[in-house]
Amino acid sequence: MQGRVAVVTGGGRGIGRAIAVKLAREGAKVAVSYRANDEAAKETAALVRDAGAECEVFRGDVASAGDVAALFEGVEAAFGKPEILVNNAGTTRDNIMLRMKEPEFDEVMETNLKGAYLCTQAVLRSMVRARWGRIINISSVVGILGNAGQANYAASKAGLLGLTRSVAREVAARGITVNAVAPGYVETELTGGLEESVKDQIRGQIPMGRFGEAEEVAEMVAFLAGEGAGYITGQTLAVDGGMAMQ
Ligand code: NDP
Repeated sequence: MQGRVAVVTGGGRGIGRAIAVKLAREGAKVAVSYRANDEAAKETAALVRDAGAECEVFRGDVASAGDVAALFEGVEAAFGKPEILVNNAGTTRDNIMLRMKEPEFDEVMETNLKGAYLCTQAVLRSMVRARWGRIINISSVVGILGNAGQANYAASKAGLLGLTRSVAREVAARGITVNAVAPGYVETELTGGLEESVKDQIRGQIPMGRFGEAEEVAEMVAFLAGEGAGYITGQTLAVDGGMAMQ
């Protein structure tokens, strides 16, 4: 993907950072979006540049149409039209359904699902003109299996799978692929808050018996973003140690 322009939302930390670095190693120019953590984003930019690639970081909320418009104006000014989009920005507001507050539901849906809608719409026209594009949506094993205490998150991640398949059908004939990656449990700040006893319980449900690494998710994203994956679209690729075998 030498010289390709890639945008990774939520690339400031965790899985998004690993994706940004991996795409940089593969030769892409990388734009990273993040919501608030300037320091983390600066670290990602340094890692991407160390990997030999150009990098720009953009602060903004993927759930805000104005912020997303500013993000893609910035990307175009810095690098040109985006050719690879990784919708990775995501968040959780866990609660059991009986207690889940409307803002908890809305916030998760807006970041995880509406954010992907806004960013996809922002890149699609130029990809159609170029007759080439790669869109990769980061879903979750939870979007496939469900998870007690995460109805909002699971709904947003399952929603992403429907979005993926629908957009994939719309643009398949234009040389654009749209796929989802469904990671299992990966050690990041998102899962860092889990108690050790809960982590042990989770490990018990993973055939491989361990959490995944962000870099293991990034490998799959890089594969899907590359030339070699040009005949794969509308798919959900699980990177989950065998949790959700299909
Ligand atoms: P982290 O919480 O470690 O990082 C999330 C990143 O997304 C940060 O860079 C954060 O910005 C950014 N972000 C969050 N909300 C917004 C927003 N509204 N607008 C713009 N950026 C935002 O998460 P992970 O790396 O663990 O997760 C990455 C993706 O992978 C998510 O979609 C998550 O749902 C998914 N996933 C994670 C799993 C895991 O076990 N960790 C398992 C399955 C899926 P900032 O740094 O500024 O806060």
